[in-house]
Amino acid sequence: MLSVSCNELPSPMPSFQAVDILVIGAGAAGLMAGIWAGRTNPEHAVMLVDGARTLGAKILVAGGGRCNVTHDEVDARAYAGASPHAIKKVLDRFDVPQTIDFFREIGVELKREETGKLFPTTDRARTVLDALLDATMQAKVKIEHPCRVETVERSAEGFLVRGAGVQIDARQIILATGGKSLPKSGSDGHGHHIARSLGHGITERVFPALVPLTLPPDHFVCLLSGITVPATLDLWSASGKHLRAFTDSTLCTHFGLSGPSVLDMSRHFIAARLDDPASSLTINWLPDQTPEQLDRRLQDLGRVTPTQYLRAHMPDRLARALCDVARVDPHIPGSEMARAQRKTLTRSIMRCPLPVSGNRGYNYAEVTAGGVPLTEVRLDTMESRVCPGLHLCGEICDVDGRIGGFNFQWAWASGYVAGVSVGS
Ligand SMILES: Cc1cc2nc3c(=O)[nH]c(=O)nc-3n(C[C@H](O)[C@H](O)[C@H](O)COP(=O)(O)OP(=O)(O)OC[C@H]3O[C@@H](n4cnc5c(N)ncnc54)[C@H](O)[C@@H]3O)c2cc1C
Repeated sequence: MLSVSCNELPSPMPSFQAVDILVIGAGAAGLMAGIWAGRTNPEHAVMLVDGARTLGAKILVAGGGRCNVTHDEVDARAYAGASPHAIKKVLDRFDVPQTIDFFREIGVELKREETGKLFPTTDRARTVLDALLDATMQAKVKIEHPCRVETVERSAEGFLVRGAGVQIDARQIILATGGKSLPKSGSDGHGHHIARSLGHGITERVFPALVPLTLPPDHFVCLLSGITVPATLDLWSASGKHLRAFTDSTLCTHFGLSGPSVLDMSRHFIAARLDDPASSLTINWLPDQTPEQLDRRLQDLGRVTPTQYLRAHMPDRLARALCDVARVDPHIPGSEMARAQRKTLTRSIMRCPLPVSGNRGYNYAEVTAGGVPLTEVRLDTMESRVCPGLHLCGEICDVDGRIGGFNFQWAWASGYVAGVSVGS
């Protein structure tokens, strides 16, 4: 098979190439799909193309550079977008034990941390990327990059793929171009246009998920930048119905809030706001107490001030800020606090309103909510129902998971299903 690289093709005349299987996008899902397409179809020419100069950028930055490969307990309910039933069907085809075995086979031992997250024992994302690239090579799959695909058209033989100065004829295609998150990594949403051009729909809503949320710059949280505490975020409908809660580490920043609880809540909050602009978010800074317990403890303070009490449970700056918000004198002994003051303080601590002004957008989002609906894909093969010969996998699909390795698990599982099914 000829090698073709867009970079080396300054000629305006397109360079032609023909392959049996072309995987577009060499991220987590595309690499997985390429490896399994190569292993399953040793007689076929399989090629992976990617528009990025540096391959696997997201794998390298994932998990703070350690790559949270998967989670010990992957459950379809940890995902949103498509129905849990549809997501489960794909996840079940390549489950966590299979993922662990696969990575072991390609030379990456995984370790489970207390949180249930699995990381390479080396604590280096590079180990994961290098092993995947090596396995791709072992499977005799050629990778060409940077080679950004601009258009894909149906042809008599399959597909005609065009990029800058290059044309590739492919009998079958796996589209693994990701979503729109971290566009500088190469995933800028162009895959959605390609999917559309081949007859697919894209969900009406596409928005950043696992994304930090912003607050007005003068909000007290922005002045507490650097503080990290366990907290619960609660999502409420306009009518006051409790919709969802996430408890985890929460980080106050100069722009608002980040950390696992916020990232997990973000897609639900953004979706709720799109449905109903009056839905709201509150934060509970003392997630291991009930309002009744806190009220009782405040009543029993005697000469101890509320700030002194709170300091035992949270950083001093936050304790003082919460008393300030509730307009409670930080030096008042607990025994001298009026009932109304206690109630206001309890509410400020446990149902503290967050006037979210927006989110940090795709540049800071770990994933994209929305994409190609799974109803348009055969879940046993990941082949398109509207464009035979086209397979889809990874984040381009309307599936986004919680923080903790769930998004990679979707990429491994859907990439595996597409890879073993293509070519037949
Ligand atoms: C900062 C950050 C940290 C993360 N940490 C974790 C984590 O620890 N655990 C976890 O489970 N998930 C994590 N995620 C999410 C995870 O990285 C993604 O869910 C996953 O990478 C999606 O894989 P994908 O292959 O579908 O898409 P991508 O990884 O986005 O790969 C798509 C590839 O397609 C290429 N491409 C796009 N368009 C074209 C085109 N037109 N032509 C050619 N190539 C194209 C891109 O260059 C890219 O290489 C993180 C994400 C970010 C941004």
